[in-house]
Amino acid sequence: TDGMRRQIVAANWKMNGSSELVQQLVPAVREAVSALDNGPQVVIMPPSLYLGEVKAQLADSSISIGVQNVAQWQSGAYTGEIAAAMAADAGCQYVLVGHSERRELFGETDEVVAAKVSRILASGLQAMVCVGETLEERDSGDAEAVVCRQLEGALAGVSADEAVNIVIAYEPVWAIGTGKTATAEDAQAMHQAIRDKLVGLGLPGNAMSVLYGGSVKPDNAAALFMKPDIDGGLIGGASLKAEDFIAICQAV
Ligand code: PGA
Repeated sequence: TDGMRRQIVAANWKMNGSSELVQQLVPAVREAVSALDNGPQVVIMPPSLYLGEVKAQLADSSISIGVQNVAQWQSGAYTGEIAAAMAADAGCQYVLVGHSERRELFGETDEVVAAKVSRILASGLQAMVCVGETLEERDSGDAEAVVCRQLEGALAGVSADEAVNIVIAYEPVWAIGTGKTATAEDAQAMHQAIRDKLVGLGLPGNAMSVLYGGSVKPDNAAALFMKPDIDGGLIGGASLKAEDFIAICQAV
């Protein structure tokens, strides 16, 4: 991987966890990450209710925290929603946006993702923008076109200066939670295509971090992270086990 780019390993707990898990897992991750020489930027994105507890466990550590979603609106009568400005106020540095589960289960369109990205940037946070094709799209040879369309949609209105606050996470939908990982070669090819597309959009694609996500485990992480255009990972299932997540952080 290009040494100029930030290496990142991000934990997406999804709707999993408890206070107990926070108390067990976070101190263990903290200790292991602090022992790494030249380790990646580690980000933990728990369910928002646990942010305060996670943050308390991470005082004076280099590990960042984030939320898994924010609203596309600034504030007001949106019962149940959380604003990007609140995530910033609560001490977050990162916001995951456009995850395939949000797109699929909550009907998030590229337009909604773009609106959220602009709120996230306006709040001074890093947007971790997820893109990825379904199995059907891959099988019909449309994977790159789909990912390029998602990038174009999500990043409409993002300037080259703002791109320092954007991280891309390539997550093939068929690899998420399935135990099937893209081969390191296929992932590398897509990451390269993503950088080309970013450059085509007028953004500094070669300076931006592009993470891979989808069934990253301790036994496949190193091969993925070794590829020149893969700058780390977005980890779901394996982020809920301290031992696995630590091994993945060590693989960068
Ligand atoms: P997984 O999830 O690691 O469980 O496949 C990744 C993600 O959805 O971010």
